[in-house]
Order: sequence, then C-alpha cells, then structure tokens
Amino acid sequence: MDNKCNAKELKEQLLMKSKKGIATLTAEEIAKADKFCEGYKTFLDKSPVEREAVSYSLELAKAKGFVEFQQDKAYKAGDKIYYVNRDKAIALAVIGKNGVKKGARLAIAHIDSPRVDLKPNPLYEESSLALFKTHYYGGIKKYQWTVIPLALHGTVVKLDGTKVNICIGVDENDPCFCITDLLPHLAQEQAQKKMGKIIEGENLNVLVGSRPVQTDDEEGELVKLNVMKLLNEKYGIVEGDFLSAELCFVPAYKTRDVGFDRSLIGGYGHDDKVCAYPALMAALDTEVPENTCITYLCDKEETGSDGNTGMQSDFLRYFIYDLAKADGIEGYRALSQSRCLSADVNAAFDPTYASAYEPKNSSYINQGVIITKYTGHGGKGDTSDASAEYMGEIRSMLEKNNVMWQTGELGRVDLGGGGTIAKYVANMNVEVVDLGVPVLSMHAPFELVSKVDVYEAYRAFYAFYN
Ligand code: MN
Ligand code: MN
Repeated sequence: MDNKCNAKELKEQLLMKSKKGIATLTAEEIAKADKFCEGYKTFLDKSPVEREAVSYSLELAKAKGFVEFQQDKAYKAGDKIYYVNRDKAIALAVIGKNGVKKGARLAIAHIDSPRVDLKPNPLYEESSLALFKTHYYGGIKKYQWTVIPLALHGTVVKLDGTKVNICIGVDENDPCFCITDLLPHLAQEQAQKKMGKIIEGENLNVLVGSRPVQTDDEEGELVKLNVMKLLNEKYGIVEGDFLSAELCFVPAYKTRDVGFDRSLIGGYGHDDKVCAYPALMAALDTEVPENTCITYLCDKEETGSDGNTGMQSDFLRYFIYDLAKADGIEGYRALSQSRCLSADVNAAFDPTYASAYEPKNSSYINQGVIITKYTGHGGKGDTSDASAEYMGEIRSMLEKNNVMWQTGELGRVDLGGGGTIAKYVANMNVEVVDLGVPVLSMHAPFELVSKVDVYEAYRAFYAFYN
C-alpha cells in the first residue's frame, strides 16, 4: 500500500498559513485606515493626560448623542450614556436589546501614559536656576526623558476650592521645559554606569526659569520668586497650591506621520490611547447592539491600576450593577455573563533588538491587531490566561468579520514582562483577553504604531460590539 501523501495539499489542510498582513489590503482599505488615523492623531494631541482624554472623549460622545448616566433610570435599546469617574476615567455605554441580562460587552483601555509628575513641593532655586523636583510615573527609561521639549499639564486646586487647569507648552508660541543632561565631554563616569543609574530619579529635575524678579531688595531665591510671580499672574496660584495639584510633564511635540510612505504614526502616549480611541469610536458608531456595550477608558494602569480611578476600583462594577438593577437582575449575574476585550498594546517585533523577542510568537507592524492570551512574566506569573473557549470565540469573531489579526507574547520568556488590566477584569468573573495594537519603542516619549493596525483595532472592537 502506498502511504505517500501530497505534502502540498496536506500543508494546505493542516498548517497555518503565513500571514501576509497589509499586503492583503486593497488601496481603498488602506485609504480608510489613513483617514481614520487623522482622527486618532487629533485625539492623541488633545489627550496627553487622562483628564484631557476624558474631556475630549466626552466632547466626541456628546456630539454623537451620549447623555449623562442617571442612577435608577430605566434605559431602552439604543440609548447612549456616559459616566465619568472623577474626571479621570469614563465609561460610554450603548444599551442593547437585551440590556445586560445576558451580560455586557466590554472594551477597556487605559488613558494614562508614562510621564514625569511634579512632587508635592516641586519648586526650588539652585545656582540661580529655577527647577521643579519630579517623581516619574510608570515604567520609563529615564535617560529618554532628558533633553527633549516638555509641556506642563494638569490641575491645581486652590485653598478656596477653585480649580485651575494648566497647559503650557502645547501651543507653538508657548515656552516649553527641559530636563538637562551632561555633555559627552564630561560624561566618562556617567558612561560607566548601568542604564537605570545613568539618569537617576532624583536627577529628573526640570528647568523652568533663570531670570530673577526685578527688585532693589537684598533677598535670596529671586529666580524662584520670579517663576512663582509669573504663575501667580497667569493662574492666580501660590506656592502652597502645588500641594493640592496633579501636574505633570509630557513631551511638548505634536503627533507626526513617520516614514517616506507615511505608514506609521509617531507620538507620545500611543500606550494606550491607540486602543482607547478605536474602542471609543466603536462605541460612538454602535447604534442598537444585542447586548449593552461599554467602552471604559480607565486611569492608573501604568502604576498598577490601584486607586479609585484605576481598574482595581469598583467604579465599573458599580456601573454594571446599576444597569443590572434597572434590568431587574442581580449585578453579579450581569458581570458573570459579560465578555471583555482588554484593549491594550503589545510590543511590536523590532529587528534592531531581535534578540529580545521570540519571532514565532511576536506581533509585527502592519499585521493587524494582536491578541495576547496572557501577559505577565516568567512562568505566567501575575496574569489572566484567557481560556481556550474564549480564545476560540474571539478568533472566530475576528475571522468572520475579516479583521486582520495576529497573536503573540510580550517578548522572550524570562527576559522581563508586563501586565494589563485583563487580570482585574477576570477577577470579576468576566471572560477577558487582551486585544490591541503593536507598538515600537513602547513607553518612550515618541512611540510608533502602524496606521492600518490602528484601523484594524477599530474594526475588531466594532465587530465585538455588533
Ligand atoms: Mn498599556
Ligand atoms: Mn504601558
């Protein structure tokens, strides 16, 4: 008997086809992606910090007919509501035909990004320069944040309770700020140090002024005084007001197209606005879904999701409980039947640093959204590992809707690792898996993503909701 097979045919039947990614897209589809990304670039420029992301998202949602959520109100299919958590996180829901009786469809992204926060008592003068002490926020390579133009964003609450929003450095006529670095001529000692020590946390001091206030008085710290005088003239604040403030420095430059072909977008904060925006737009474009859809844009992911605006807070849980109550069911029953896409980025394979990745299980630029079954580190620690059943469900949803997708891990096993909000969602007894956009130079002040990948993320969330 002849046991020989037709290997070509058998391959066709049994093996995964190599993904062709962007090569499978038509010119029209690529043009659609480019157009979608113009909206995304505006979102990114308007949303460097979470409060700004919330207010811009709210502006877009209101324009699409979303109204503020009211507790104990009964909603009907097609109603569009928003629910803001302390100005730093926002839920946008489109009520479905089933309400939340069969669970909700959740897409959750975070709108905080790594940056440099001011310390509570930041302003000081040394050698006739005025500087701010800072405490970095999230995982950064500290040296990357020196010698780039920085903008100051945030909110100050004065002693009388009035709130002042501060934003300096975004307008091209604004001044910007900068963290200095040592010149190479004198850096022989610095060059011997390990990466984390080249620039230490306490050296992330931001230069904010150098001219003394004009006076005939023999007083000290006149440069510091001048900075405070200018801040007082513009914002009416005094030094003590820094104690009740959330102020941070982020890169001052605008989002740009990257590459001769303009295929990429370079900017600050793609992690995770590059998932937040598509998830937001999917909610805004959904009319009457089967099950209630909720896009939740949360805060504090980069520092562990703690706090009342982070994913470990009960805000979203309570919101779903409220919707369930209106539908006449227990909140836990709504949660237990809910399904979630944890919308977060993953590291795109970078050929320059190939050894950090495992090429067979990495995500690639221009290959579409990446599904990450689990994140965590060494031995699958600290992560939710999506079930085979849920992976199967999402995979077939993406295939059915012709979404370009890929799968992968964060990088080489035992090299490092990272996490997302997926595990906190899973802890609420919700099915969840990570789905997002691959990013080059993640957590750098200038990150890169591919336009077609951003658009595929939108298509994935839209398909998930509809
Ligand atoms: Mn992220
Ligand atoms: Mn991150």
